Amino acid sequence: MSAQTFDEWWATHYNTNERDKIMCREAWHSRDAEVAELRATNLRLIRGDFNQICSHCAWEAAAPATWEQLQAHIQECPSHPIATLKREVAELKAKLTETERLNKVALAHFEKIACLGNGDSHGNSIGNSMAIDAIKEIEGSAK
Ligand SMILES: [Zn+2]
Repeated sequence: MSAQTFDEWWATHYNTNERDKIMCREAWHSRDAEVAELRATNLRLIRGDFNQICSHCAWEAAAPATWEQLQAHIQECPSHPIATLKREVAELKAKLTETERLNKVALAHFEKIACLGNGDSHGNSIGNSMAIDAIKEIEGSAK
């Protein structure tokens, strides 16, 4: 159902002066705000009349239950997709931390190999060059 616009409503009901139209337009829009507020209140009250049930684990809060109670449950529900996402984020953060640690270890070792046989400076042997390439690759992927 498409809502009627103010201009459509005005055209079908009235055809008076512009000043009346402006006043009615303001009332029309305040009516829209009031209707939206009443709908929100109605929804809140209707939800309170029913048990709130988690569709993923059948957890249930007896009426009068609030939407907020269901939302709080969802944050802790092990069956809800949010829990899966939180677990995956935690696993990925742990893997990232471990990868960063291993990159530091590898860089330290490659740095030694890059300088092998050349004091504190990078050398130019095949082994030095391979280590230098590896350092560039790791530093590039860390950005
Ligand atoms: Zn649940």
